[in-house]
Amino acid sequence: MMWSEFAEQKRPASFLHQSLQYNRLSHAYLFAGPKGAGKKKMALHFAKAIFCVRQDGDSCGTCKNCRLIEEGNHLDIHRIAVEKNVISIEDVQTLQKKLSYRAAESSHKVYIMEESEKMSREAANSLLKFLEEPPQGVVAILLTNQIHNLLPTILSRCQIVQFAAPSPEQIASQLEAVGIKAGLARTAAAITNDFEQAHALCETESFAQLRSLMIQLSEDIWERGTYALVTLHDKLLKQEKTVERIDLFLDLLLLWFRDILLCLLGQESQIMNIDQVEPLQKQALRISQRRLATGMKIILETKNRLAHYANLQLSLEDMVLRLQEG
Ligand SMILES: [Zn+2]
Repeated sequence: MMWSEFAEQKRPASFLHQSLQYNRLSHAYLFAGPKGAGKKKMALHFAKAIFCVRQDGDSCGTCKNCRLIEEGNHLDIHRIAVEKNVISIEDVQTLQKKLSYRAAESSHKVYIMEESEKMSREAANSLLKFLEEPPQGVVAILLTNQIHNLLPTILSRCQIVQFAAPSPEQIASQLEAVGIKAGLARTAAAITNDFEQAHALCETESFAQLRSLMIQLSEDIWERGTYALVTLHDKLLKQEKTVERIDLFLDLLLLWFRDILLCLLGQESQIMNIDQVEPLQKQALRISQRRLATGMKIILETKNRLAHYANLQLSLEDMVLRLQEG
């Protein structure tokens, strides 16, 4: 991987690349941005680019240094991860001791601290002294998704590198990387736009059930006439009684309509319910673009009504009937 391949985070990537190219390496960086934005991945790439023996300011991925870093075995890279939800002063002191030895393999030493906002106050103060008088050749990379929880004095010592919120595609591919099926991962990512929330959704079995129910209702609406109301009562309303769950259901339905629209426009590559291309295409054959647009408007109106405490059952019945009328 090269700097140019960080398509989702172009600005931080090109900033870091340039600081290496022009020999303007800072002694401390703070990567700030939401979880799932790819901070850890970029920190590792940055470390490789510092040590790579083949590429000037980038990483070849194949030289000894690049490989050792990838495997987590490079002696001049130190990683501090949170244990028991805190980074203690002992963690910071151990690190400082390691960094006081001469670099084992090269002129630099790099340490990467994940979730740096979880440093205890003593740990942060100890690190601060270290940041104020950094040993020669040491580069700190601190990561955080809660920049407001770090001491201002620490911020003032770091070059802050801001990461943009991850796109739904980025969130989805990270969910897939931890073993979540593509269709579920993509829909959850599109609905929440937040890695943690999307991950939590996918972990609950009921999210998958809710989605299956939505798919069934959509088929009943277009294809099985009055059966849609039966599905609504016997399947959905019997199980889901809270407005929050119904709201999630409606978000899934909206996403489904959007996917049908994408099928109609021949843009299947962009659909979120990626494991449902066949039923989506089948439904796309039966529905006009105008009807889909009206349908999305009806779903949005229903969401709005429920947000204003309208009767759950009546609102949903009304929605189904209006969707069927088109
Ligand atoms: Zn290399």
